[in-house]
Amino acid sequence: MSRAAQATINLSALQHNLQRVQQVAPSSQIIAIIKADAYGHGLVRVAKALNAADKFGVAGLEEALQLRNAGIRKPVVLLEGVLAVSELSKAGLQNLEVVVHHISQLETLEEYARTASNAASRLNVWLKVDTGMHRLGFPPSIVQTVWQRLQAIPLVKDVCIMSHLANADDTKDTTTDKQLALFNTASNNIDAKKSMANSAGILNWPMTHMDFVRPGLMLYGVTPFNQDVAADYQLRAVMTLSSQLIAINYFKKGDAVGYGGDWVCPEDMSVGVVALGYGDGYPRHAKSGTPVIVNGQRTDLIGRVSMDMICVDLRGFQNANVGDPVVLWGDGLPVEEVARYASTVAYELLCHVTQRVKFVEVR
Ligand SMILES: *Cc1c(COP(=O)(O)O)cnc(C)c1O
Repeated sequence: MSRAAQATINLSALQHNLQRVQQVAPSSQIIAIIKADAYGHGLVRVAKALNAADKFGVAGLEEALQLRNAGIRKPVVLLEGVLAVSELSKAGLQNLEVVVHHISQLETLEEYARTASNAASRLNVWLKVDTGMHRLGFPPSIVQTVWQRLQAIPLVKDVCIMSHLANADDTKDTTTDKQLALFNTASNNIDAKKSMANSAGILNWPMTHMDFVRPGLMLYGVTPFNQDVAADYQLRAVMTLSSQLIAINYFKKGDAVGYGGDWVCPEDMSVGVVALGYGDGYPRHAKSGTPVIVNGQRTDLIGRVSMDMICVDLRGFQNANVGDPVVLWGDGLPVEEVARYASTVAYELLCHVTQRVKFVEVR
């Protein structure tokens, strides 16, 4: 018997969530962010299903080339740009757009233009401004200068201006307003298309929508907000992680369950064993009490997460049997909720599902 650990990817939900982006940001074009293997959902499968997006965004060249090899022709933005001239010529050949966030990348572009053959392709460029995230981007004070240098490079086609929001998931935080003001001041006199919003910006900060929005997480039916879940925004979970009970055991009051014996039965009770653990990407730090769905009904994870298995509380599940279905997140159990019990974010849980889990597409 093969293991039952499965990630079901609902492509209709994915398409529905893209429509939600269109509804929430009706005047913006959409760069669907599919980096990190489409947040663990499968790069090519997600790109094919999101054919209605205007562009795709990935972290680097390798992911973009995977898309091209799969026959996907849409514009692809390399969100971290590239480091070398050779990568720029590949990007040019494949109609990829590069982010330029650092002076070294500007110099690489200038060198590319100096050394390229006449047949070299022109590139669309995204000038990235650091408005407060303090990770990537030029300081606002030199944006005009960088813009002019980009304009002077013959192999640069269109230049758009972008920035990234640091705190948009916190609706009461004032950072987003400050970032917006800095961005507008820095790019005011520049006639270019502009982009700032990630999922949190799209859902909560309409002023950040501009010409292009860049949804990632919300496409997968998950919100970046601490207290809310996706259904509050009419988003539908795309990934459901599931498995089966492979054992049901009866223990006495005082019996300890699992490694370290952290969890002790408070009474005589039955305990279920689920074939799914951190070797499948379930978070090892999920605490006892993390919700799990057995036979459509919620119960609790108990004891430590093992590599291949977790244990669940089966008190009140008199009719449970070996082979019964278990949902770890997705349908009926928001991954945001599980993330909270594991002291992490939904992004990480989605990205970490491992290759031994069987991926199945449904519509
Ligand atoms: C990952 C990423 C996004 C998408 O962020 P979400 O919070 O997943 O919507 C947008 N823009 C950039 C530059 C990114 O790196």
